[in-house]
Amino acid sequence: LKKEWDRLIDEPSVTKDGKYVELAANIGTPKDLEGVKNNGGEAVGLYRTEFLYMDSTELPSEDDQFEAYKNVLEGMDGKPVVVRTMDIGGDKELPYLELPDEMNPFLGYRAIRVSLDQDDIFRTQLRALLRASVYGTLRIMFPMIATLNEFRDAKAIYEEEKQKLQNEGVEISDSIEVGIMVEIPSAAVLADQFAKEVDFFSIGTNDLIQYSMAADRMNERVSYLYQPYNPSLLRLIKNVIDAAHKEGKWAGMCGEMAGDQTAVPLLLGLGLDEFSMSATSILKTRSLLKKLDSEKMAELSERAVTECTTSEEVVALVDQYTEE
Ligand code: PEP
Ligand code: MG
Repeated sequence: LKKEWDRLIDEPSVTKDGKYVELAANIGTPKDLEGVKNNGGEAVGLYRTEFLYMDSTELPSEDDQFEAYKNVLEGMDGKPVVVRTMDIGGDKELPYLELPDEMNPFLGYRAIRVSLDQDDIFRTQLRALLRASVYGTLRIMFPMIATLNEFRDAKAIYEEEKQKLQNEGVEISDSIEVGIMVEIPSAAVLADQFAKEVDFFSIGTNDLIQYSMAADRMNERVSYLYQPYNPSLLRLIKNVIDAAHKEGKWAGMCGEMAGDQTAVPLLLGLGLDEFSMSATSILKTRSLLKKLDSEKMAELSERAVTECTTSEEVVALVDQYTEE
């Protein structure tokens, strides 16, 4: 099996009937790029930049961040890199940043909420990203967007910093895409309106599932509610992908679900364009895709969202459609 996968390292990600998708990797630091290469990653679909902040004893400077982003962009040789702006708060704390003690940290002050409130930190990160943009194909992604106003505010700050740098004569790529993570149900529901303003969506199922089911993703007692195949979740995902395509945008996924072998047939059928996962899942997913027919999987996912009432029914249907 390992040998078969190794042969796929330099092959495209294509289904039995010739449909191409992008298989990307999630990374936490520039060091992870080696794994992306060794496993045939076609892009970085999620660079979790919070490690830059967590592995430091003070706020990382603009220059330190610039170096890290430049390394990753150059390391990918022009292949796309989706950089997520910092997702601090929730369970991720920083010793040097005063964060409030909260009853419900996952429902509290985190990610874009911190960035918009302490915008000096956010501006530093955006400047570092803009400066690094000329070294590859940069896509910037905002985490935990709940409302269009949050996206508009973040985008406005981005435009301001871009303008300032241009006034200083700094060279900036003219093809940076700016998108959002869809990991809060409100954004998934309103995806048609978001799609008119963002360049892309990346569905963050780790959080989207916990917020849809109101079940803490770390809490063992309620882990039975962590149901990636629940028809309710599949409908949300379908809504996001359809909305993106209607506006000519692309939709990816960077939660664990994107590399889950039961979910892949469903996601392919729903029309997902980019699957971002742990690098170690890429080759087995590429191997699976080669065996799937995209038309047949479209029929599978249509039936899953319209006929199935439970996760179990969805799994049984996937088994039925993927048996050879
Ligand atoms: C997600 O929520 O699915 C996601 C990819 O982000 P994180 O796991 O870093 O919260
Ligand atoms: Mg998340």
